Formats: sequence, structure tokens, C-alpha cells
Amino acid sequence: MRLSERDRKILWHPFTQEKTASPPIPVIRAEGSWLYGENGKKWLDLVSSWWVNLHGHAYPEIAEAIYKQAMHLEHVIFAGFTHDPAVTLCEKLQEVLPDSLCRFFFSDNGSTAIEVALKMAYQYWWNQGERQKKYFIALEGGYHGDTFGAMSVGARSGFHDPYSGLLFKVLHVPFPDTFAGDDEVSDKEQRDLLELENVLDKYQDKIVGIILEPIVQGASGMRMCRPEFVSQLVQRVREENILVIFDEVMTGFGRTGTLFALEQTGVTPDFLCLSKGITGGFLPLALTVTTEEVYSAFLGEHFSSAFAHGHSYTANPLGCAAGIMSLNILQRPESADARKSIQQALERGLADISKISKKICRVRQQGLIAAFDIDPAAGIDMQKFKLMMMEEGFLIRPLGQSVYLMPPYSTTANEIDAAFDKMRIVIAAS
Ligand SMILES: *Cc1c(COP(=O)(O)O)cnc(C)c1O
Repeated sequence: MRLSERDRKILWHPFTQEKTASPPIPVIRAEGSWLYGENGKKWLDLVSSWWVNLHGHAYPEIAEAIYKQAMHLEHVIFAGFTHDPAVTLCEKLQEVLPDSLCRFFFSDNGSTAIEVALKMAYQYWWNQGERQKKYFIALEGGYHGDTFGAMSVGARSGFHDPYSGLLFKVLHVPFPDTFAGDDEVSDKEQRDLLELENVLDKYQDKIVGIILEPIVQGASGMRMCRPEFVSQLVQRVREENILVIFDEVMTGFGRTGTLFALEQTGVTPDFLCLSKGITGGFLPLALTVTTEEVYSAFLGEHFSSAFAHGHSYTANPLGCAAGIMSLNILQRPESADARKSIQQALERGLADISKISKKICRVRQQGLIAAFDIDPAAGIDMQKFKLMMMEEGFLIRPLGQSVYLMPPYSTTANEIDAAFDKMRIVIAAS
């Protein structure tokens, strides 16, 4: 029996309507930016395998680091024990993060990194007797994962409607969602900041914290804002004693042109959530990084003030070893050069495609994330567009009307040019 048929009999895939989806595509191996399928098929992975891959697939040095670690210490309970890969990874990250982000809590995926930040923020106040603080502010269109806390703060992104009755109440403020040549940028920003004022005014000292994806909202369609908006927002809520959570699960590790998006905003959050790229895309791992001040609020003589949260695979040594190697690679000049050339190729591609096709709009880019929308009036079937691109050897995964490219850092400028050429042709013909 063929693999896809065996899969069909036994598996249930994520974010998939199993009744109407086409059979899953077997991938036999991967190398660099390419995925290889059966019968000699191959695809350029322009989505970095759900935004996790950084340096290319099956990167030998990361594979070796994992192998070496696995032969040495594969896992150990992290309550009451520690190991070198965990400590070293956090030390290395601390070197590249703002000084105040200096306490590291491990978990194993993006959603759990968010749950940890939400729970820590809430208990930070609780431990200090501030029991009236119950509400989080989140940005409309934000996506923070699929567990209950993450769904609650992500509500209104349209992914989790059936669960709305089970989610906790969250205060939403709008997100500017601006793009190149948008002549309403500052109007939108001012309007959204005004909405924030309304929320601050109404809920006053009942607000725990605010959570946001800085600069780029990923899952709701690569929606972007200016870093200045994020700094204004953060500076304002800080005046009201509100904790700030940055969800950099997607934007972390170079995607927005800087190592972390927070660098562009000039503000430092109280919590930073990292996952996806943290192991270079090899293994599940996550970190919630916070301040000494937050950490101190959990210290006491009794367990009751401790943070009672943990996961079985917390700080898995293999994941940490992959993370250390991935960060090493990221810090090499060759990696910086490669990222620069990708960024320029994306800029060129966007400029060309927007000149030639009237069917596209809302062109936007932040570092190594390039996006545009296909005008709904053009009547292009997005699913068909995606399949035609796949047919031509390019893996893209549009979000609604938004087409985006987020290639691994192994991708060449020529490969990106080729992807834009093909998109242009397919759009023109559709
Ligand atoms: C993917 C994502 C998450 C959730 O991470 P998972 O590992 O899929 O649970 C959270 N926040 C953002 C911004 C993401 O892109």
C-alpha cells in the first residue's frame, strides 16, 4: 500500500479538513531549502516548514550535535536536576538579549511558552496580593497557539470559534495592519492607541498584562505594523503598571531582519516567548524569558508562592544541544550575509511583482518575511494558486488572500527570483 493511503487509514492531520483535503504528500528527505518527494518530485520550502526551519533542512552540524548529545545524555528530569546544554543555551541567549531578560523557563512548544508567560504574569500579581488583576489585553488578529490560554488571548483571529464559550475574557485592541504605501498608517495607529486608552480607562487596575506579536502577526496573514507603534503601545501600558508579553515564537531568530523583533522596537518586554526557530527547526523546544523582578515575586518559604508548572520534556538536552548549535550558526558572518541577500531578493521580487500585476495589493515586508494580498476582485482561487505553485516546485501556503514567503536562510537569491517569476506567471494566467 502506498504511504499516503496508509496515512489516510490511520492519521488525523493538524489544521486539516480531512474530508475534503487532498491526500498528504509524502516527503522522503530534505536538504537545504528543498523537500524531496516520491518519483523525483521536489519543492522549494518557502514556508520554512511551518516557520521552524532556519538554516536549511537536515543541516549536518545540528544533526551531529544532536547525535553526540544523544549518545551522552538524552534526557533527565529537570525538577531538582540540571545539565550543561540547558545552562549553556540560556547563557548564550542571554548574551544576545536585553540585560533585563535574564531568567529562563523551558517548555516544549510555542503554545506552552505562552501559557507559561500568562500564568507567570497572573501569579506575579497574585503572589503580591493583587487579586483584582484578572484581565489580559491582546491585539485583534493575534495568534498565540492552540491551548486554552493561548486560544483565549488569540480569540478573534477566527481559528477557535467552537471553543469560545470556554475561553477566559480578554480585552482586545485593534492592530494597525499597515503596508508599503499605505497612506493611513498614522491614522490607523492613532485610532488603535485611542482604543487602548478606552480599555485602560475602563479596566484600570484590573489588568494583568498585554500580549502581542511584535511587528508581524503571523497566522492571521503576516499582518504588519511599524516598530514605532509597538514602542508607543508598550510605553503607554507601562505607565499603568501592566506587564508586557512579547510572543516572538515566529518573529524570533532573525525573521524580521534583526535577531529578535524587540530590537527594532527599542522597548523590552517583561516576558519573551521563544520557540519555532530555537532548535533550527529540528526538535520541539521553547523558552519563556523573564526579568529578575518577576522571578523574585515567586520566592518564598512555602511552595504556595512557587510556579507550579512543568512539562515532561522540559529542557530536553537534545533540543538544547540543537539550540546551541543553531545559535552558533546564526551568529556566523556567512549566515548574516545570506540573510541580507535573501532580504534584498525579497525586496526586489515584491517591487517587480507589484509593478506588473494589478491583481495584487497590500505589499509588505519585514526583514525576511515578504507578503502581498491577491485582490479578492481578481477572483483567483487561492487553493488552486497554491496547487499550481506546488506543481511548479514551490511550496507556499497562503493565509486567506495573503501570499507570503518566509524561506530558510539557505535559500539563494536565484531561488527567490525564480519563485517570484513563477508567481507572476501563475497570477497573470489565473
Ligand atoms: C506558531 C505560533 C505559536 C504556537 O506555537 P506552537 O509550537 O505551534 O504551539 C504561538 N505564537 C506564534 C506567534 C506562533 O506563530
